[in-house]
Formats: sequence, C-alpha cells, structure tokens
Amino acid sequence: MERPNIDWSNLSFGYMPTDVNVRCTYKDGAWGELRLTTDANISLHMAATCLHYGQEAFEGLKAFMGQDGKIRLFRLDENAKRLQSSSRGIMMAEFPEDKFREACLLAVKENLRFVPPFESGASLYLRPLIIGTSPQVGVKPAAEYEFILFVTPVGPYFKGGFKTTPFVLMREYDRAAPFGTGVYKVGGNYAASLRAGERAHELGYSNIFYLDAKEKKYIDECGAANFFGIKGNTYITPKSTSILPSITNKSLMELAADMGMTVERRPIAVEELAELDEAGACGTAAVISPIERIDDYDEKKSYVFSKDGKPGPISEKLYNRLRAIQYGLEEDKFGWITIVE
Ligand SMILES: *Cc1c(COP(=O)(O)O)cnc(C)c1O
Repeated sequence: MERPNIDWSNLSFGYMPTDVNVRCTYKDGAWGELRLTTDANISLHMAATCLHYGQEAFEGLKAFMGQDGKIRLFRLDENAKRLQSSSRGIMMAEFPEDKFREACLLAVKENLRFVPPFESGASLYLRPLIIGTSPQVGVKPAAEYEFILFVTPVGPYFKGGFKTTPFVLMREYDRAAPFGTGVYKVGGNYAASLRAGERAHELGYSNIFYLDAKEKKYIDECGAANFFGIKGNTYITPKSTSILPSITNKSLMELAADMGMTVERRPIAVEELAELDEAGACGTAAVISPIERIDDYDEKKSYVFSKDGKPGPISEKLYNRLRAIQYGLEEDKFGWITIVE
C-alpha cells in the first residue's frame, strides 16, 4: 500500500481529497445498492429540495488506527440511528442501519492509505449525509434522496496538548428553538449558528455559549458541541428539547458512571455555572474541549474554571479513557468499537 505524502500530525480539520466515496440512491420508494465512485462532484436538479427547503442531514464519526495495526470505528450504530432520527425529523427517507454500517466499512477499506498512522494522533473522519434530490417547487418532501459518504484525514484536535479555551455567552443569538430542529443533525441548524460563531471568534473566543431560546435561563449547547460540568463527584449535562444528542456526551456519561460518579441530566440554570469545578464542550471533533472560562457578555461577568490553562483532573481522566478505547489501548468493555476487517 502506497501511503500519500501527508504531514499527518499537522493536518487541520479540513477537506482533503481521498480515493473514493460511497453513494446510494433512494428512488421509487426504496434504497438501491451501494456504489463506489472517484467523482467528488454531484449532478443535481436545480429544483432539488435540498437547495430550497433544507432537506439535508449529516453525521460525523472517526476511524482510528491502533498501535496494534487494527482500525477502529467508534459507535457507528449510534450514528446510524441518529441519521435515521434526523431524516424522520425533516421528512427524508431513512437509511437502513445495516447499509450504513456497510457504507462506513467500505469507505474506510477503499481509502485505507488515508487512515493516519497511530503515532500521529490523527484520524480518518467519515462524513455521511443525505439530501433530497428530486425537483419540487411547492413546499413538500422530495420523492428521491441521495446518500453520500466521503472520508478525509483530520489532524489531532489538540496540537499543543490538551488545553482549555475561553467561551462567550450571548443572549442575542439562538441556535435552535424548543421543539424545533435542534435535536436533529441538519445543515439548517449550522447555517443558523454561523453568525454567532463568527462573532465569538471576532471577540477572541473559541466558541459561543447558548442559553435556552425561550426563557434564556438554562444552558443549552456551546457552539456545535454539548456542554457538561463537573461538580464534586457529579457529572452534569443539560436536558432540553433543542440539544443535539451527542454520542460523545452519551459515552462520557457512561464512563463517568463507570468511574463511580453520579450522572445528572437535567435543566441547568446559568447561575449554577458558578458552582461547577470543571466545564467542557464535547463532540466527535475534540472529544472534550475543556473550558477555561465563560464570559457572560450581557451581564458583564465571568465564570472561571481554570486559572492556569490546564483542564480539570476529571475532564482529563474522561478524555484519556475515551481516547484509549478509541485507539484500542483500553479494553472495549462497553462494546463501542467496530474493527475494520
Ligand atoms: C454533532 C453535534 C454534536 C456532537 O455530537 P457527537 O455525536 O458527540 O459528535 C453536538 N452538538 C451539535 C449541535 C452537533 O451538531
């Protein structure tokens, strides 16, 4: 196998062309066979529903090369189920779970030379998506859909080591509404978050912190990541009808419980931030992005979680355990791993 000439350790979270991608078409009420293509472009009708009415949902998961030379996919069944839930949420055809699994394995196997080596700390990112493709001018769901899965190598999130960054809480932006599409992984939510994200970056923060859109009292999400806090021996994460159910957060909750911690999933009032010992954002990209402080932009006050840039001990422990399972350094006692054979 001839490896491409890539500086694996210095890869960003960007797009790099790989050998092939996987496609599947839904037509006449059924999904067809998986196809492989070298074409990175798609030919689309100009009246396709994804272009006008936002019929698009996606997923994100990673494949890791272990020290033992085995390639591991993390919790892909959860991604398959969530893509189905997102599809139901915006009335698209649901992609079957077994086909999803098959597509992930095929995409990794056909792009093996792009799986970063263990030592680099990098991984292969899988991006499955579904779009409504048939023409429609009246507002209603498409009759035809396309599933696409491409892969691209991505660098280690923390290049200078696992460290904290500042977040900003602003009440003038919402990502999603209660009972809206926040619980679905759809492109429209990301479009709705771009202005807030840019504003936070301009102000020197790594990300934006959202409160619930209705009452502006409770913590919702941070950027496109779930929030969690550590208070003594308790792992706390918000519960709301506009949060995307993160698979990383779900895994961290299971690990925290396994480590003897109490796990609470409940509404968290913004003032409770003052009582937390540690705070972090979590998602596939970084696993945990520990929070240095949250500046409340409107109330002109700060909640500080780290004074020296170092993450708290429990965040660090959770991060190390999850990474160890992903790279096969710790036994997979939860059954989270699929080995690419
Ligand atoms: C994808 C996503 C997350 C993180 O989910 P993971 O399954 O952990 O990657 C969190 N919030 C939003 C809004 C997302 O889109």
